[in-house]
Amino acid sequence: MLILVVNCGSSSLKYTVFEGERELTSGLIEKIGEKISAFSCKVGSEKKTLPDQPVADHEQAIALMMDQMIKDGIIRQPADIFAVGHRVVHGGPNYTDAALVDEAVRNNAIAKELAPLHYPNYIGIEACVKMMPQTPQVAVFDTAFHQTMPPKAYVYALPYRFYTDYKIRKYGFHGTSHKYVSRRAAELMKKSAKSVNVITLHLGNGSSLAAVQGGRCVDTSMGLTPLAGVVMGSRTGDMDPAIVPFIMELEHLTPAQMDKLMNKESGVLGLSGVSNDLREVIAQAETGNERARLALDVFAYSIQKYIGAYHVVVGGAQALVFTAGIGEKSPYLRELICRGLKGIGVKLDPVKNKKNISREAAIHARGSKIQVWVVPTREEYMIAAESLRVIQAAGIELPLEPEKTGITRKPAAAAKRKK
Ligand code: ADP
Repeated sequence: MLILVVNCGSSSLKYTVFEGERELTSGLIEKIGEKISAFSCKVGSEKKTLPDQPVADHEQAIALMMDQMIKDGIIRQPADIFAVGHRVVHGGPNYTDAALVDEAVRNNAIAKELAPLHYPNYIGIEACVKMMPQTPQVAVFDTAFHQTMPPKAYVYALPYRFYTDYKIRKYGFHGTSHKYVSRRAAELMKKSAKSVNVITLHLGNGSSLAAVQGGRCVDTSMGLTPLAGVVMGSRTGDMDPAIVPFIMELEHLTPAQMDKLMNKESGVLGLSGVSNDLREVIAQAETGNERARLALDVFAYSIQKYIGAYHVVVGGAQALVFTAGIGEKSPYLRELICRGLKGIGVKLDPVKNKKNISREAAIHARGSKIQVWVVPTREEYMIAAESLRVIQAAGIELPLEPEKTGITRKPAAAAKRKK
């Protein structure tokens, strides 16, 4: 029983096919809509780069992905795929959980208006529905896990009508990742998710933190859009909102130009002038580049402040959970962040921190008042598992007995698959 996971970005398509817990193939088509697109994929353990060719739009990209999967012997025809799980960045205010794709999901006007950049998620859904009209499709929303936040955490102090009329509020993102790593961390701590309070740190190209109390998200750092919260590779994170009209007037910028400045030219890249890739910025800081050093300090400081706040919000955190590119792979930045947390009793074990890259591990020192964990995220697998759960709940018949599908929602199973 095959489950296809699709993630359509503004100019890219990422996909993975799962059979049970096993990843049969995955691929990435980039530069969709440009003159020449790039297509790379992995079949089993073999990596391939396919010849460059123009890919006009996401519909064509989905057709290309299907052709490749047929050539690679993964499927004979699109109908061999039992279900498709779509990563959808914005679900708007109406989705507290993943949902079977129906008219309401396809016409989710609020979410499309709130996140125009992520409109391609919905284009991907349309293309798959057209190609596989009989195949159940599920939308797994990045915002769903954060829907348990109380109003005091998600309402902005604007005139209230902006919330009621336009649904302008905090939504939060990376929800699939925060949900998975918070649950997996509880398992590793040998506790039930309900009995622990954790702060999850998804630190990648985009970064966000979540305050998770007894398994439920009570606050998160991103907002209406992924621009809010901590400083990121090329995004400002939080700043005085009055700066926005001020700069727009100073430099005669349109809203779109200002949006680009804050999303693509700011953050660690804007401060350091080096890169949005933290590896390059660290290398520069180590050779004495002062601006690179400052950018890293500002990045770490913004995260430390959120940890302090969320420690209070959850009523005392038992663990910090690092995940995503930076969280999983950078002992340097984990150390820099934790160095500023002595006030709440966090102590890292330097050897464990250095040794554990991209694998599950506790990295705190003995006597640390808060545990510190590294838990690699498994967003694609979670999307497959959530899709199967929604399909079963909707009463759709599975081709196999549920226990023989090989997919379980238990985070432990997902983690085992990667080992
Ligand atoms: P995305 O957010 O696009 O899913 P990732 O979570 O994989 O991306 O994060 C990618 C980012 O992680 C890179 O841009 C880089 O800044 C950072 N990164 C990856 N490896 C390291 C490392 N060893 N040290 C520091 N930063 C790293």
